[in-house]
Amino acid sequence: MPKAKKMDKSMDMGGMFWLHALSFLLVIVGGLNWGLVGIANINLVHWIFGAWPMVEQIIYVLVGLGAVYLIFTHKNDCKSCSMMMK
Ligand SMILES: [Zn+2]
Repeated sequence: MPKAKKMDKSMDMGGMFWLHALSFLLVIVGGLNWGLVGIANINLVHWIFGAWPMVEQIIYVLVGLGAVYLIFTHKNDCKSCSMMMK
C-alpha cells in the first residue's frame, strides 16, 4: 500500500518539523540569554521567570534537551553540516 505509507511519512515529518522548530527556538533563547549574561550580566530567563523557580528550571532543562535534540538531528536538517560531516 504505497499510498498509506506516503501519508504516514508526511505525518512524521510534520511532527519532526515542530520538534525541530521548537528545539531551535529553545537553543536560540538559551544562547541569547547566555550572551546577555556575558555582556550585561542580565539573565533574561531569570528576570522573567525568577518569580517561579520551577518554571525557570524547566526552561533551562528544555533548552538543554533542545540542544541534545539538535546535536543528533541538525546534521540531517542542515546543508552545510551534512556536507562537512559526510
Ligand atoms: Zn548546520
